[in-house]
Amino acid sequence: MTSSSKKHIPQYYTCDPALLKSVSKNAIKVIQQLKKAGYEAYLVGGSVRDLWLGKKPKDFDVVTNANPEQVKPLFKRALLIGRRFRLVHVYLSNEIIEVSTFRSIKESDERVYTEHGTLLRDNLYGTMDEDAQRRDFTINALYFDITYNTIIDYVNGFPDLQAGIIRVIGDPWVRYREDPLRILRAIRLSAKIQFSIDAQAEAPFTELGSFLSHIPAARLLDELLKIYRSGHALDAIQMLKKHQLFQHLFFFLKALPSKKMHRMSEKMMEITLLNADKRIKEEKSLSTALLFAAFLWYPLQSILLKNSKQQTNHASALNLAIQEMLEKVQQSFLTRKMKQIVREIWMLQYFFEKQKSRQIYYAFHHRYFRNAYHLLNFRVLSGEDSLKELLDWWTKFIEADRKERTELIKEKK
Ligand code: ATP
Ligand code: MG
Repeated sequence: MTSSSKKHIPQYYTCDPALLKSVSKNAIKVIQQLKKAGYEAYLVGGSVRDLWLGKKPKDFDVVTNANPEQVKPLFKRALLIGRRFRLVHVYLSNEIIEVSTFRSIKESDERVYTEHGTLLRDNLYGTMDEDAQRRDFTINALYFDITYNTIIDYVNGFPDLQAGIIRVIGDPWVRYREDPLRILRAIRLSAKIQFSIDAQAEAPFTELGSFLSHIPAARLLDELLKIYRSGHALDAIQMLKKHQLFQHLFFFLKALPSKKMHRMSEKMMEITLLNADKRIKEEKSLSTALLFAAFLWYPLQSILLKNSKQQTNHASALNLAIQEMLEKVQQSFLTRKMKQIVREIWMLQYFFEKQKSRQIYYAFHHRYFRNAYHLLNFRVLSGEDSLKELLDWWTKFIEADRKERTELIKEKK
C-alpha cells in the first residue's frame, strides 16, 4: 500500500468561536443548505488557513461529499463547471462560492455500476482523507466544520500552521513533477503569509525548475498575475531568483540581445512589482495591462533595434515592432482587448515626446494616460536616464493649472 492510499487518522482542533465571524455569510448559507440536504460540507483550503491566521480570505471554497449533480439543484443560481472533474459555482449576492466534491486519489474515469445501471462507485470522487492527500501543502489541506468550530486535519497541517511552515503533502519530488506549478505556489504562498518553506519542499526547486516549461502559458500567466496582486510580489521574485527560477517564469525575456537590456529589464520588473506591492498596501487598483506593457517593454525595444536598419519613420517602425511583439505573445497569454491596451500604453510613450499642443493634449486626455505615465516613470527608474527631463516635464504638466500648462508647452518647443 502506498502512503497515499493508506488511511489516515484525522486530528480535531477546536477553534475560537470568533473565527466564524470572519466567514462569508454566503459560504455559511451554502454549507447549511448542503447539510440540510443530508450531506457533509466544510470550508477548505486557503480560506481556512487565512481565517486561522487572522487574514482576510480571498475567497471561500466549500467541499462536500455530494456529487456536483446533487449539489446544483439545491441552489437557485448555480452553474456546473469543469469538464472532467466538475465543480459547482453557487452565486449568492455578489459572491461566487465554489463547491467541489471530495476528490479521489486514484482519479480515473472508471465507474462501477450495478446491473441496473446505478452508479456504485465513481473513481473521480473520494473521501475527505483522499481529498486532503491530493492537495498541495499541509496548511492548504485543513477542513473547517462551522457547526462545531473545529478544524479537521488529515495531514498534520495544523502544527505547520502554528509553526509557520509550508510543507508538501507526500514526496515533494513526485508532487512537483505531477504539477510543477506547485513550486511557484509554494513561493507565492511563502511570500504572502511570510511562512518558511520546509527544507524538503525547497530542495527540488532549482533542479525541477525547467519543468515549469511544461505548464501551459495561460496557467503560468495566471500564477504571475497572482504574484503581481499578492502584495508581496517583490519577495516572491527575490525567492524565484534565489532558486534560479526567474528565467522559467519570465521565459519571454530569453531573447533579449544584450546584457545591458537584461539588466534594465530585470530592473523594470522589480520596479513594477515594488510599485504593485505599494499600491496594494494603499488599497489602490492595479492594472494588468501596465504589468505587461512594462514587462514586454525591453523585448519590444530589442525588436525595434533589430528593425532599425529598415525603417526611417519612427512611428511606423514602432507600429511594426508592436505588431511583431504582440504576435509573438500567444493568444492564450494576452487577450485581444489586453493587447490593445498594451499597444496604447506603448504608443503613448511616443506621444510623450511630441511638442505640439494638440499631441500633448491627446496624450494627456487619453484613457490610458495614467498607465503610460507610470511606464515612463518605470523606464527612467530602469536606467533610461535620457528620459529624466521628459518625465519631470510631464510631472509638472500634470500638477499645473491651465495657464501654466500653456507656458510649459511653449517651453518644450
Ligand atoms: P489563495 O486563493 O489565497 O491564492 P489558495 O490556497 O486558496 O490561496 P487556490 O488556488 O484558491 O489557493 O486553491 C484552493 C485550494 O486548492 C488550495 O488551498 C489547495 O488545497 C488546492 N490546490 C490549488 N492548486 C493546487 C495544486 N496545483 N495542487 C494541489 N492542490 C491545489
Ligand atoms: Mg483561494
